[in-house]
Amino acid sequence: MQQENEFTKWYLKTIQDAELMDYTPVRGCITFRPDGYEIWEHIQAAMDQRFKETGHRNAYFPMLIPESFFQKEKDHIEGFSPELPWVTEAAGEPLEERLALRPTSETMIGHLYSKWVKSYRDLPLLLNQWANVFRWEKKTLPFIRTSEFLWQEGHTAHENEEEARQETMQMLAIYKEVVENLLAIPVYDGTKTASERFAGAVDTFSIEAMMKDGKAVQAGTSHYLGTKFAEAFDIKYLNRNNEHHYVHTTSWGTSTRLIGSVIMVHGDEKGLVLPPKIAPTQVVLMPVGPFKKHPEILEKLEEIQQALKVKGIRVKLDDTDQTAGFKFNKWEQKGAALRVELGPRDYQNGQVIVKARDEEDKQTVNLAQLITVIEEELEVMQARLLTKARGFRDAHSHITIDSLAQLQQHIEATPIPGWILAGWCGSADCEQKVKEQTKFTTRNIPFDPPVQKTTCICCEQQAQHTVWFARAY
Ligand SMILES: [Zn+2]
Repeated sequence: MQQENEFTKWYLKTIQDAELMDYTPVRGCITFRPDGYEIWEHIQAAMDQRFKETGHRNAYFPMLIPESFFQKEKDHIEGFSPELPWVTEAAGEPLEERLALRPTSETMIGHLYSKWVKSYRDLPLLLNQWANVFRWEKKTLPFIRTSEFLWQEGHTAHENEEEARQETMQMLAIYKEVVENLLAIPVYDGTKTASERFAGAVDTFSIEAMMKDGKAVQAGTSHYLGTKFAEAFDIKYLNRNNEHHYVHTTSWGTSTRLIGSVIMVHGDEKGLVLPPKIAPTQVVLMPVGPFKKHPEILEKLEEIQQALKVKGIRVKLDDTDQTAGFKFNKWEQKGAALRVELGPRDYQNGQVIVKARDEEDKQTVNLAQLITVIEEELEVMQARLLTKARGFRDAHSHITIDSLAQLQQHIEATPIPGWILAGWCGSADCEQKVKEQTKFTTRNIPFDPPVQKTTCICCEQQAQHTVWFARAY
């Protein structure tokens, strides 16, 4: 698609034209308008169902976290303190201890788990929270990086490392399945390098998605926290031999940046293109031509609307008096998945015109078959968007760049440099050098790389890992 700055401009215009969000006087804090929020609700419903199927329950923890909680885990406070907003007074009085607006809830939850976990019978403890969190970002981009955002954070405690690691992987797999099947976004799952790890984690795993400008978005993360938070918050249990042990904990999260990702992966020059499973409007019905003189047209469309609603399809009938061109444009901007047009002549012939948002061609459909065709087309479009996104990603993934010089050349020669799969010796210095010289950062060490690399892209010594490198949001 477009170059980097053009792409950002396109993105900002697209989300506003589609009325997904609006800015507020608080910098970095956006409002989710109903269509934007509804996309989140569909993501939320799919995730929540899977969390519950795998034994998790939802709970809610306070948004304000005492400063002393952050001091208990050294890496955690180092990682998060630059971004924390603080509450320092209330009711006109300074607080004895300042309170952070949570950036994530390991500390508060660690405190409570230490009260709730006493014996192996209390384990595993499998909770999730749907909440808002705050990270005071210097550079913000609606949905993708904002000072306040919505997310879910799962927090679990287990008897041993093996179970905790199984949980970490299970939740990453759920994220991958939902992002691919619901959002039609292909992702690579893998391990984060130490420098990109969650502050306080032993291991962080991620799923990474490619946007249409070739940049990466970390679409979800799952962390094995070892006993670090258990030691910091004294979460101990009595095992079957009456011995005290620290629990092994995990945490995992996905956020409203998934909304931004879905727009950046599927959108086009006309506006939003949304996978039908999350589109607030799956079908828009539109009378065309001189329909005011033919009341039977609106009657027919109302009948179709009713039949689609019965099938659970999200449908809108646009019978406003604007021109057809205006309406086409409006619903394309908003990403309605299918458009059904009905004019006097087609009505007489017992047929309608159906058009999918992501395709140029229209098809003529017999009125008697319309409902079945719509159901099929929604499924076909859902699958087609994933195929298209995978095609784009694969076309912009490069696996034959093996030195920094080659990478620099590639960046200069290619409008969308995309991702590169390269070897890495494991040294933080090499990782840093690649970042400084190219702005490419390590995304993850994929579980299932297309090829294994043998030399480090930076020092050209023996590689320890095969890594995806990319510019990232
Ligand atoms: Zn190296």
